[in-house]
Amino acid sequence: MASDNIYIGIGSNLGNRMENLRSSIAHLQNSLIDVMQISSVYETEPRDFCDQDDFFNLVARISTSMKPVQLLNTINRIEHALGRKRQISSGPRTIDIDILLYEDQIISGKRLTIPHPRMHLRSFVLVPLAEIAPQTIHPILRQNIDSLLAVCKDTGKVNKLFEHEAISQ
Ligand code: AMP
Repeated sequence: MASDNIYIGIGSNLGNRMENLRSSIAHLQNSLIDVMQISSVYETEPRDFCDQDDFFNLVARISTSMKPVQLLNTINRIEHALGRKRQISSGPRTIDIDILLYEDQIISGKRLTIPHPRMHLRSFVLVPLAEIAPQTIHPILRQNIDSLLAVCKDTGKVNKLFEHEAISQ
């Protein structure tokens, strides 16, 4: 049975950032994943390693019958196919896909942590997520996304660039 309430964050700050976001969505749709909802695209400041170009970020709600680790494997394959090379940790990347929430599951494994451990600290995740899932509850913090955004201290720039229709076509 498919799980319908899975949220992923996608970012790119290398090459044609908009085209990379579009390609990642096409790859997801070709990999037994239904993309149900897409946020607007935001231009955002890099947070961990700051001497690099701004990111384009979005958040999507997806539906799939893949279990979390299978989904991670698929995502890693897509990142690889889109030319992601791991050079500097937290450095520039063609595409970065994170699993933010998988229904209300809590997973703390060697390869996978869900909810994503830093999602509530990052405005570039919370702003687009609040656009499509404001009332969704974080299963550990037990607050909805709007509330997490209201108390988030991340002051990094998050500028809306394109409405969601622009990328879902
Ligand atoms: P990064 O280089 O920041 O994209 O980290 C990628 C690695 O983080 C992956 O190889 C995963 O094993 C691990 N990881 C742990 N939790 C998650 C998650 N919720 N979503 C995506 N990757 C995760």
